[in-house]
Amino acid sequence: RQRILSGMQPTNDSLHLGNYLGALVNWVKLQDDFDAYYFVADLHALTVPTDPKLLRARTRLTAAQYIAAGVDPTRSPVFVQSHVPEHPQLMWVLSCLTSYGEASRMTQFKDKTAKGGNANVGLFTYPILMAADILLYDAAYVPVGEDQRQHLEITRDLAERFNQRFKKALRVPEPYIVKEGAKIMDLQEPTQKMSKSQSSELGMINLLDEPSRNAKKIKSAVTDSETVIRYDVENKPGVSNLLMIHSVLSGTPIPQLEDHFAGKQYGHLKVETADVLVDAVAPFRARTLELLDDPAELDRILASSADRAGEVAARTLARVYDKVGLLAPV
Ligand code: ATP
Ligand code: MG
Repeated sequence: RQRILSGMQPTNDSLHLGNYLGALVNWVKLQDDFDAYYFVADLHALTVPTDPKLLRARTRLTAAQYIAAGVDPTRSPVFVQSHVPEHPQLMWVLSCLTSYGEASRMTQFKDKTAKGGNANVGLFTYPILMAADILLYDAAYVPVGEDQRQHLEITRDLAERFNQRFKKALRVPEPYIVKEGAKIMDLQEPTQKMSKSQSSELGMINLLDEPSRNAKKIKSAVTDSETVIRYDVENKPGVSNLLMIHSVLSGTPIPQLEDHFAGKQYGHLKVETADVLVDAVAPFRARTLELLDDPAELDRILASSADRAGEVAARTLARVYDKVGLLAPV
């Protein structure tokens, strides 16, 4: 079976609906077809200054949410990036193959630093750590959103460069573009994607929030001045987003929903979508809280996952160290 790898940063107290429907739900499905590895990118999270206690708590929180969504750690390791030291070790070797100009062209760095602020070197070299994350596992595919495409490109470039210079040692990964990956939009600004760093409080559904709070947010979602419930992203982004959320969570095709809501008002759509959301998220939320209730057990899962991931990572790193001419310790 081919290997895939994906991760998220522990930068929030809860994943949002976009993370869930756009990424996590697919991770769960991918376990059936691939040898899947899922990690919590805590080293990446250091690029944003965070209170240490909070970072530690969010690392467990993020892992718990992977498992609550249906990632089965007995099949697919769920591990913490910093538990596998080969990640930053491989990064160093790759850094020495990356030109300064190439790193400077990364648009996410440019976007995130455009507003001024104090960018750190970690944010600048972030894509090289991401390349190490992926290449350590000989991943055939990497499920990524559109926003990570450029980073996957540099990963491929680095792997190819390494293979050219030192003879083939790294697998060049392909992006895995999910066919029906739902892109969830901001509830208040439905032409923009729901995002933890860009969305307002009202624009974003946090899965671990009180269900009543989330229901309220759906009910105050921005729609339009018409009255027709129709899927039309161009002209009716707010209504289309609600239809999409309903459809993915209830498993009802959108045309069927359009028929169902024919002649009804936006209020009906909102109430029903809120109900569907609350019902769908309830078991996920309960399971997450249950996992967090027993941090020792969660830590054991993370430790055994890190062991399994570490075996693969150590083999790759040893191969890389040998190829570049680092003297092996005896
Ligand atoms: P940031 O604003 O800091 O980039 P984010 O909200 O985009 O945060 P990420 O941690 O970058 O969240 O993304 C985690 C995963 O969720 C990625 O696979 C990403 O493609 C996916 N994702 C994020 N937002 C959405 C969305 N609105 N719809 C669908 N998928 C999403
Ligand atoms: Mg993002």
